[in-house]
Amino acid sequence: MKRKHERVVIVGGGPVGSVAAFILALEGIPVTILEREPAPIIDYRASTFHPPTLDLLEACGATEALVAMGLKAPTMQYRDRQRGRIAEFDFSLLRKDTGHPYRLQCEQFKLVDWVHRRLAEMPDVRLLFSHAVTGVTQTEDEVVIRAETPDGERSFGADFVIAADGGRSTVRKAIDIEFEGFTYPEHFLVAGTRFDFRARMPDLCSVNYTADPEEWYLLLQIPDMWRVVMPVDARREPEDAVQEASIQASLQNLLPRAEPYEIIVRAIYRVSQRVASTYRKGRVFLAGDAAHINNPLGGMGLNGGLHDALSLTARMAGVWHGTSSEDALAGYEPQRRPAAVDAINAITQRNKRLLEERDPDVRARNLREWAAVAADPERAYRHLLDASMIASLRRSGMIR
Ligand SMILES: Cc1cc2nc3c(=O)[nH]c(=O)nc-3n(C[C@H](O)[C@H](O)[C@H](O)COP(=O)(O)OP(=O)(O)OC[C@H]3O[C@@H](n4cnc5c(N)ncnc54)[C@H](O)[C@@H]3O)c2cc1C
Repeated sequence: MKRKHERVVIVGGGPVGSVAAFILALEGIPVTILEREPAPIIDYRASTFHPPTLDLLEACGATEALVAMGLKAPTMQYRDRQRGRIAEFDFSLLRKDTGHPYRLQCEQFKLVDWVHRRLAEMPDVRLLFSHAVTGVTQTEDEVVIRAETPDGERSFGADFVIAADGGRSTVRKAIDIEFEGFTYPEHFLVAGTRFDFRARMPDLCSVNYTADPEEWYLLLQIPDMWRVVMPVDARREPEDAVQEASIQASLQNLLPRAEPYEIIVRAIYRVSQRVASTYRKGRVFLAGDAAHINNPLGGMGLNGGLHDALSLTARMAGVWHGTSSEDALAGYEPQRRPAAVDAINAITQRNKRLLEERDPDVRARNLREWAAVAADPERAYRHLLDASMIASLRRSGMIR
């Protein structure tokens, strides 16, 4: 493929776009990142990095930084609101499969901040904030991106474009790619508090999935707080659910205490299961949430997006430097799209069904099954290979 601009443009300076830019820059490829916001967003959404993601990010130095900033979670629990701990899984079962046999808990904005600092020191990298992309046109030779900027509308020419502009991707819509799937009727509430749940629930570990037919919840420890994720009844106004009184009621329902909880983070999200019908049109490639979105029960969205970035940038660098044929780029979608459909979306949907099951008999069967899997080392190992994304990365050929 001829190159007219000697530059890759990345739309979106979130975690996926930033990591993609960083890897291309390390390969000596000039990159421009166009980010709509005036400054990096303090985004608390993702906090889990899975073992193979840490293995794959090691080469660029991000793993060392994440480990230094994050909290290692060596185990994970499945619980029931009434009965407490049902099953515990120990990531050390994966010690022969990964150099990082734990889940690393670190907020996504800390990764973005670390990458942006590296990008600021690199030649041929332009990280442009307050640049909101509005349109895309392409010919055989180039892509032209239009953006609203502080200097008015500007155009940016590129040899390749990576659209990492999130679930509502302007680029995906501009190039007319379907985003197939559905949106859940309920919203998801995220609340962060410094209250140490383990002081009152001593058998908790750092990653806890709790089933309940009325209000399942996820309780996650991150370096300086505990995060609670729970559903908000679809009949309620999402704005009401983030009011102080409502969050206090939800947390008191989870664990009653005399004092109110100190809430330091609160947010509400609309959640969908969707995958783009194709990951590529000509010289434009989708990655991260622009390509696939899913519920957070399993912590797989960002991890999958980073796997996209790693797959795509390795292929792009090979083609750029002439060490791979253009077929390498054609291999991106067949490698990454099935992982989004068959693993990320399938596993996160199954996790949600298990947590919210209302039928008492099915619930009882599910809980027995969790306990049986955890008690059998071979089944626990297989379960962890799926839950940590090692199995799907192996199937796609990204790791051995
Ligand atoms: C409650 C919750 C918890 C989660 N927890 C986890 C977890 O533990 N682990 C995990 O793997 N995943 C998790 N996820 C998913 C994870 O947050 C996302 O998958 C991740 O943020 C995707 O990164 P991204 O860079 O693709 O998109 P985003 O983070 O959405 O970044 C997109 C960027 O593009 C910019 N942008 C958008 N439009 C334009 C435009 N027109 N022009 C220029 N810039 C634009 C945005 O401002 C933003 O900076 C969670 C999600 C939720 C809702």
